[in-house]
Amino acid sequence: MVALAGTTPTAGRTRVHVFVVGGPRLRHPALPIVPGVRTGGYLPCDLCGASDPVLVLESPRLDGPLVRCRNCRLLYVGSRRQDFSFASADAERSSALADRVAELELVRPEVEDAERPWRLRADRRRLARLRGHVPGGRLLDVGCATGVFLALAGAEFEAEGVEPDPGTSEQARASGNRVITGTLETLAGRSERYDAVTMFHVLEHLRSPRDALQLVRELLRPGGVVMIETPTIDCAAFKLARSRWRQLIPDHYYFFSRATLETLLRRCDLMPVECATVRREVSLRFLADRLRRAGVPLAGQLQRPLRALGLADRTATVRPGDVMTVIARRAEGAPAGLRDR
Ligand SMILES: [Zn+2]
Repeated sequence: MVALAGTTPTAGRTRVHVFVVGGPRLRHPALPIVPGVRTGGYLPCDLCGASDPVLVLESPRLDGPLVRCRNCRLLYVGSRRQDFSFASADAERSSALADRVAELELVRPEVEDAERPWRLRADRRRLARLRGHVPGGRLLDVGCATGVFLALAGAEFEAEGVEPDPGTSEQARASGNRVITGTLETLAGRSERYDAVTMFHVLEHLRSPRDALQLVRELLRPGGVVMIETPTIDCAAFKLARSRWRQLIPDHYYFFSRATLETLLRRCDLMPVECATVRREVSLRFLADRLRRAGVPLAGQLQRPLRALGLADRTATVRPGDVMTVIARRAEGAPAGLRDR
Protein backbone atom coordinates (compact mmCIF):
# COMPACT_ATOMS: atom_id res chain seq x y z
CA MET A 1 0.00 0.00 0.00
CA VAL A 2 1.22 3.48 -0.81
CA ALA A 3 -0.46 6.79 0.05
CA LEU A 4 0.82 10.07 -1.31
CA ALA A 5 -0.62 13.26 0.13
CA GLY A 6 -0.05 17.00 0.04
CA THR A 7 -1.95 19.88 1.61
CA THR A 8 -2.55 23.41 0.41
CA PRO A 9 -4.33 25.92 2.69
CA THR A 10 -6.82 27.88 0.55
CA ALA A 11 -9.00 30.62 2.02
CA GLY A 12 -9.77 28.82 5.29
CA ARG A 13 -10.30 25.50 3.56
CA THR A 14 -7.79 22.69 3.57
CA ARG A 15 -7.13 21.31 0.12
CA VAL A 16 -5.68 17.84 0.42
CA HIS A 17 -4.63 15.91 -2.63
CA VAL A 18 -4.43 12.22 -1.93
CA PHE A 19 -3.63 9.28 -4.13
CA VAL A 20 -4.40 6.06 -2.33
CA VAL A 21 -3.10 3.02 -4.08
CA GLY A 22 -3.23 0.21 -1.57
CA GLY A 23 -5.52 -1.86 0.55
CA PRO A 24 -5.43 -4.39 3.36
CA ARG A 25 -4.31 -7.90 2.71
CA LEU A 26 -7.34 -10.16 2.96
CA ARG A 27 -7.55 -13.88 3.19
CA HIS A 28 -9.41 -15.64 0.39
CA PRO A 29 -12.71 -16.86 1.89
CA ALA A 30 -14.28 -20.05 0.60
CA LEU A 31 -17.02 -18.70 -1.68
CA PRO A 32 -19.85 -20.86 -2.97
CA ILE A 33 -20.08 -21.49 -6.70
CA VAL A 34 -23.49 -20.51 -8.10
CA PRO A 35 -25.04 -23.29 -10.22
CA GLY A 36 -25.14 -22.33 -13.88
CA VAL A 37 -22.15 -19.98 -13.72
CA ARG A 38 -19.25 -21.17 -15.83
CA THR A 39 -16.46 -22.58 -13.72
CA GLY A 40 -14.16 -23.58 -16.59
CA GLY A 41 -12.88 -20.88 -18.94
CA TYR A 42 -14.09 -17.29 -18.75
CA LEU A 43 -17.06 -15.27 -19.93
CA PRO A 44 -16.58 -13.66 -23.37
CA CYS A 45 -15.70 -9.96 -23.66
CA ASP A 46 -18.75 -7.69 -23.50
CA LEU A 47 -17.12 -5.08 -25.72
CA CYS A 48 -15.78 -7.12 -28.65
CA GLY A 49 -17.17 -10.62 -28.09
CA ALA A 50 -13.74 -12.30 -28.06
CA SER A 51 -13.34 -15.35 -25.85
CA ASP A 52 -10.25 -16.70 -24.10
CA PRO A 53 -9.14 -13.59 -22.15
CA VAL A 54 -5.94 -13.64 -20.11
CA LEU A 55 -6.00 -13.81 -16.28
CA VAL A 56 -4.74 -10.58 -14.68
CA LEU A 57 -5.20 -11.26 -10.97
CA GLU A 58 -7.38 -12.74 -8.26
CA SER A 59 -8.64 -10.61 -5.37
CA PRO A 60 -10.84 -11.70 -2.45
CA ARG A 61 -12.74 -8.43 -2.90
CA LEU A 62 -14.00 -9.45 -6.37
CA ASP A 63 -16.74 -11.94 -7.27
CA GLY A 64 -14.37 -13.74 -9.67
CA PRO A 65 -11.00 -13.48 -11.42
CA LEU A 66 -10.02 -10.21 -13.11
CA VAL A 67 -9.25 -10.91 -16.79
CA ARG A 68 -8.18 -8.84 -19.81
CA CYS A 69 -9.52 -9.29 -23.33
CA ARG A 70 -6.62 -10.13 -25.66
CA ASN A 71 -8.37 -8.32 -28.50
CA CYS A 72 -9.69 -4.98 -27.13
CA ARG A 73 -7.96 -4.94 -23.70
CA LEU A 74 -11.17 -4.51 -21.68
CA LEU A 75 -10.68 -5.64 -18.07
CA TYR A 76 -13.61 -7.47 -16.48
CA VAL A 77 -14.53 -10.15 -13.96
CA GLY A 78 -14.22 -13.35 -15.98
CA SER A 79 -16.71 -15.47 -14.00
CA ARG A 80 -19.35 -14.73 -11.36
CA ARG A 81 -19.41 -16.83 -8.23
CA GLN A 82 -22.42 -15.17 -6.64
CA ASP A 83 -23.47 -12.70 -9.36
CA PHE A 84 -24.20 -9.40 -7.63
CA SER A 85 -24.75 -7.63 -10.98
CA PHE A 86 -27.68 -5.19 -11.14
CA ALA A 87 -29.91 -7.18 -13.46
CA SER A 88 -33.04 -6.67 -11.36
CA ALA A 89 -34.21 -6.21 -7.78
CA ASP A 90 -33.51 -9.37 -5.85
CA ALA A 91 -33.84 -9.33 -2.06
CA GLU A 92 -31.70 -12.46 -1.67
CA ARG A 93 -28.94 -11.02 -3.83
CA SER A 94 -29.05 -7.67 -1.95
CA SER A 95 -28.80 -9.48 1.37
CA ALA A 96 -25.88 -11.66 0.18
CA LEU A 97 -24.07 -8.57 -1.13
CA ALA A 98 -24.63 -6.69 2.15
CA ASP A 99 -23.16 -9.67 4.04
CA ARG A 100 -20.14 -9.76 1.73
CA VAL A 101 -19.52 -6.00 2.05
CA ALA A 102 -19.80 -6.27 5.85
CA GLU A 103 -17.38 -9.20 5.88
CA LEU A 104 -14.83 -7.12 3.96
CA GLU A 105 -15.45 -4.12 6.30
CA LEU A 106 -15.83 -1.79 3.31
CA VAL A 107 -18.52 0.56 4.66
CA ARG A 108 -19.20 2.36 7.95
CA PRO A 109 -22.81 3.63 7.81
CA GLU A 110 -22.23 6.54 10.22
CA VAL A 111 -19.45 7.89 7.97
CA GLU A 112 -21.55 7.50 4.81
CA ASP A 113 -24.58 9.22 6.42
CA ALA A 114 -22.51 12.16 7.64
CA GLU A 115 -21.17 12.70 4.12
CA ARG A 116 -24.55 13.72 2.62
CA PRO A 117 -23.87 17.49 2.43
CA TRP A 118 -20.71 16.92 0.39
CA ARG A 119 -22.34 14.33 -1.85
CA LEU A 120 -24.93 16.99 -2.62
CA ARG A 121 -22.18 19.39 -3.68
CA ALA A 122 -20.77 16.69 -5.95
CA ASP A 123 -24.23 16.28 -7.50
CA ARG A 124 -24.43 20.04 -8.12
CA ARG A 125 -21.10 19.93 -9.95
CA ARG A 126 -22.30 16.99 -12.05
CA LEU A 127 -25.42 18.91 -13.01
CA ALA A 128 -23.47 22.05 -13.93
CA ARG A 129 -21.14 19.99 -16.09
CA LEU A 130 -24.04 18.27 -17.84
CA ARG A 131 -25.73 21.61 -18.55
CA GLY A 132 -22.62 22.67 -20.42
CA HIS A 133 -23.67 20.11 -23.04
CA VAL A 134 -27.45 20.15 -22.86
CA PRO A 135 -29.44 23.18 -21.68
CA GLY A 136 -32.63 21.41 -20.60
CA GLY A 137 -35.42 19.13 -21.77
CA ARG A 138 -36.10 15.59 -20.57
CA LEU A 139 -33.61 13.76 -18.34
CA LEU A 140 -33.44 10.12 -17.22
CA ASP A 141 -31.23 9.19 -14.23
CA VAL A 142 -30.44 5.47 -14.39
CA GLY A 143 -29.92 3.91 -10.95
CA CYS A 144 -31.27 7.04 -9.28
CA ALA A 145 -31.22 5.50 -5.74
CA THR A 146 -33.10 7.79 -3.32
CA GLY A 147 -33.31 10.55 -5.95
CA VAL A 148 -30.92 13.18 -4.59
CA PHE A 149 -29.44 14.03 -8.02
CA LEU A 150 -32.90 13.66 -9.58
CA ALA A 151 -34.36 16.32 -7.26
CA LEU A 152 -31.56 18.74 -8.17
CA ALA A 153 -31.92 18.01 -11.88
CA GLY A 154 -35.68 18.61 -11.57
CA ALA A 155 -35.00 22.36 -11.31
CA GLU A 156 -33.42 22.40 -14.78
CA PHE A 157 -34.94 19.39 -16.56
CA GLU A 158 -38.15 17.43 -16.77
CA ALA A 159 -36.48 14.70 -14.74
CA GLU A 160 -37.33 11.04 -14.28
CA GLY A 161 -35.43 8.15 -12.65
CA VAL A 162 -35.27 4.40 -12.90
CA GLU A 163 -34.19 2.34 -9.89
CA PRO A 164 -34.41 -1.47 -9.49
CA ASP A 165 -34.75 -1.64 -5.70
CA PRO A 166 -38.44 -1.31 -4.69
CA GLY A 167 -37.74 0.22 -1.27
CA THR A 168 -35.20 2.71 -2.58
CA SER A 169 -37.35 3.78 -5.52
CA GLU A 170 -40.31 4.27 -3.15
CA GLN A 171 -38.10 6.51 -0.99
CA ALA A 172 -37.25 8.56 -4.10
CA ARG A 173 -40.95 8.89 -4.99
CA ALA A 174 -41.80 9.92 -1.41
CA SER A 175 -39.42 12.87 -1.88
CA GLY A 176 -41.50 14.03 -4.85
CA ASN A 177 -39.47 12.48 -7.67
CA ARG A 178 -40.87 10.69 -10.70
CA VAL A 179 -39.30 7.22 -10.52
CA ILE A 180 -39.93 3.93 -12.30
CA THR A 181 -39.10 0.78 -10.33
CA GLY A 182 -37.05 -1.32 -12.74
CA THR A 183 -33.99 -1.35 -14.95
CA LEU A 184 -33.12 0.09 -18.35
CA GLU A 185 -34.70 -3.03 -19.85
CA THR A 186 -38.02 -1.96 -18.27
CA LEU A 187 -37.93 1.11 -20.53
CA ALA A 188 -37.13 -0.80 -23.74
CA GLY A 189 -39.64 -0.17 -26.49
CA ARG A 190 -41.05 3.00 -24.93
CA SER A 191 -41.69 5.87 -27.32
CA GLU A 192 -40.32 8.60 -24.98
CA ARG A 193 -36.98 10.11 -25.98
CA TYR A 194 -34.66 11.94 -23.58
CA ASP A 195 -32.32 14.90 -24.04
CA ALA A 196 -29.99 13.55 -21.34
CA VAL A 197 -29.36 10.20 -19.65
CA THR A 198 -27.15 10.06 -16.55
CA MET A 199 -25.47 6.92 -15.14
CA PHE A 200 -23.41 7.57 -12.03
CA HIS A 201 -21.54 4.47 -10.85
CA VAL A 202 -23.89 2.12 -12.67
CA LEU A 203 -22.05 0.74 -15.72
CA GLU A 204 -19.47 -1.25 -13.73
CA HIS A 205 -22.28 -3.11 -11.91
CA LEU A 206 -24.19 -4.38 -14.94
CA ARG A 207 -24.23 -7.79 -16.60
CA SER A 208 -23.66 -6.18 -19.99
CA PRO A 209 -22.65 -2.51 -20.30
CA ARG A 210 -22.92 -2.93 -24.08
CA ASP A 211 -26.58 -3.96 -23.89
CA ALA A 212 -27.23 -1.07 -21.48
CA LEU A 213 -25.62 1.56 -23.73
CA GLN A 214 -27.46 0.24 -26.76
CA LEU A 215 -30.69 0.83 -24.83
CA VAL A 216 -29.48 4.30 -23.76
CA ARG A 217 -28.84 5.14 -27.41
CA GLU A 218 -32.41 4.10 -28.24
CA LEU A 219 -33.78 6.26 -25.42
CA LEU A 220 -31.86 9.40 -26.47
CA ARG A 221 -33.15 11.74 -29.11
CA PRO A 222 -30.60 12.48 -31.87
CA GLY A 223 -28.18 15.03 -30.39
CA GLY A 224 -29.01 13.96 -26.82
CA VAL A 225 -26.17 13.22 -24.38
CA VAL A 226 -25.29 10.46 -21.92
CA MET A 227 -23.15 11.29 -18.87
CA ILE A 228 -21.33 8.35 -17.27
CA GLU A 229 -19.28 8.24 -14.07
CA THR A 230 -17.35 5.00 -13.53
CA PRO A 231 -13.97 3.84 -12.18
CA THR A 232 -11.05 3.98 -14.60
CA ILE A 233 -8.45 1.24 -14.32
CA ASP A 234 -5.98 3.23 -16.39
CA CYS A 235 -4.53 4.94 -13.30
CA ALA A 236 -1.50 4.93 -11.03
CA ALA A 237 -3.58 3.54 -8.15
CA PHE A 238 -4.32 0.24 -9.91
CA LYS A 239 -0.79 -0.10 -11.30
CA LEU A 240 0.63 0.13 -7.78
CA ALA A 241 -2.05 -1.50 -5.62
CA ARG A 242 -3.14 -4.25 -8.04
CA SER A 243 -5.33 -6.76 -6.11
CA ARG A 244 -5.79 -4.28 -3.24
CA TRP A 245 -7.06 -1.39 -5.41
CA ARG A 246 -10.09 0.21 -3.71
CA GLN A 247 -12.34 -0.18 -6.76
CA LEU A 248 -12.12 -3.97 -6.57
CA ILE A 249 -15.33 -4.71 -4.67
CA PRO A 250 -17.77 -7.64 -4.89
CA ASP A 251 -20.34 -5.94 -7.15
CA HIS A 252 -17.95 -4.31 -9.65
CA TYR A 253 -17.65 -6.40 -12.84
CA TYR A 254 -16.21 -4.02 -15.48
CA PHE A 255 -13.13 -1.81 -15.23
CA PHE A 256 -12.91 0.51 -18.22
CA SER A 257 -10.05 2.67 -19.33
CA ARG A 258 -10.84 5.86 -21.22
CA ALA A 259 -9.94 3.99 -24.42
CA THR A 260 -12.18 0.95 -23.84
CA LEU A 261 -15.14 3.06 -22.67
CA GLU A 262 -14.86 5.41 -25.65
CA THR A 263 -14.66 2.40 -28.00
CA LEU A 264 -17.78 0.92 -26.42
CA LEU A 265 -19.64 4.23 -26.73
CA ARG A 266 -18.71 4.62 -30.41
CA ARG A 267 -19.86 1.08 -31.13
CA CYS A 268 -23.20 2.03 -29.60
CA ASP A 269 -23.35 5.10 -31.88
CA LEU A 270 -22.58 7.50 -29.02
CA MET A 271 -19.76 9.96 -29.79
CA PRO A 272 -17.55 10.91 -26.80
CA VAL A 273 -17.28 14.69 -26.33
CA GLU A 274 -15.63 15.01 -22.91
CA CYS A 275 -13.61 12.82 -20.52
CA ALA A 276 -11.97 13.79 -17.23
CA THR A 277 -11.08 12.26 -13.89
CA VAL A 278 -13.29 13.31 -10.99
CA ARG A 279 -12.34 15.83 -8.30
CA ARG A 280 -14.33 15.65 -5.08
CA GLU A 281 -14.74 17.67 -1.92
CA VAL A 282 -14.95 15.34 1.09
CA SER A 283 -14.94 15.70 4.87
CA LEU A 284 -11.80 14.76 6.78
CA ARG A 285 -13.97 12.12 8.52
CA PHE A 286 -14.68 10.51 5.14
CA LEU A 287 -11.09 10.85 3.98
CA ALA A 288 -9.80 9.12 7.12
CA ASP A 289 -12.30 6.31 6.61
CA ARG A 290 -11.23 5.79 2.99
CA LEU A 291 -7.59 5.68 4.12
CA ARG A 292 -8.63 3.02 6.67
CA ARG A 293 -10.32 1.05 3.89
CA ALA A 294 -7.14 1.32 1.82
CA GLY A 295 -5.13 -0.15 4.68
CA VAL A 296 -3.18 2.97 5.70
CA PRO A 297 -1.67 2.21 9.14
CA LEU A 298 -3.52 3.87 12.07
CA ALA A 299 -6.09 5.51 9.74
CA GLY A 300 -8.86 3.55 11.52
CA GLN A 301 -7.99 5.34 14.76
CA LEU A 302 -8.23 8.88 13.35
CA GLN A 303 -11.99 9.39 13.87
CA ARG A 304 -11.82 10.15 17.61
CA PRO A 305 -9.01 12.75 17.41
CA LEU A 306 -10.71 14.38 14.39
CA ARG A 307 -13.90 14.75 16.45
CA ALA A 308 -12.04 15.95 19.54
CA LEU A 309 -10.24 18.63 17.54
CA GLY A 310 -13.42 19.68 15.72
CA LEU A 311 -11.88 18.77 12.37
CA ALA A 312 -14.22 15.97 11.25
CA ASP A 313 -16.37 18.33 9.15
CA ARG A 314 -13.46 20.26 7.64
CA THR A 315 -13.30 19.60 3.91
CA ALA A 316 -10.55 18.47 1.59
CA THR A 317 -10.41 18.35 -2.19
CA VAL A 318 -9.30 14.97 -3.50
CA ARG A 319 -8.58 13.74 -6.99
CA PRO A 320 -7.83 10.03 -6.61
CA GLY A 321 -7.50 9.66 -10.39
CA ASP A 322 -9.39 6.35 -10.51
CA VAL A 323 -12.88 7.66 -11.32
CA MET A 324 -13.75 9.27 -14.65
CA THR A 325 -16.67 11.17 -16.13
CA VAL A 326 -17.39 10.65 -19.81
CA ILE A 327 -20.01 12.55 -21.77
CA ALA A 328 -21.09 11.29 -25.21
CA ARG A 329 -23.61 12.52 -27.74
CA ARG A 330 -25.94 10.49 -29.91
CA ALA A 331 -25.26 11.32 -33.55
CA GLU A 332 -27.72 13.72 -35.21
CA GLY A 333 -29.77 12.63 -38.18
CA ALA A 334 -30.90 9.16 -39.15
CA PRO A 335 -29.75 6.32 -36.88
CA ALA A 336 -26.55 4.79 -38.19
CA GLY A 337 -27.49 1.47 -36.67
CA LEU A 338 -25.51 -0.45 -34.12
CA ARG A 339 -22.12 -1.60 -35.21
CA ASP A 340 -21.08 -5.20 -35.09
CA ARG A 341 -18.65 -6.37 -32.48
ZN1 LIG B 1 -12.68 -7.47 -26.11
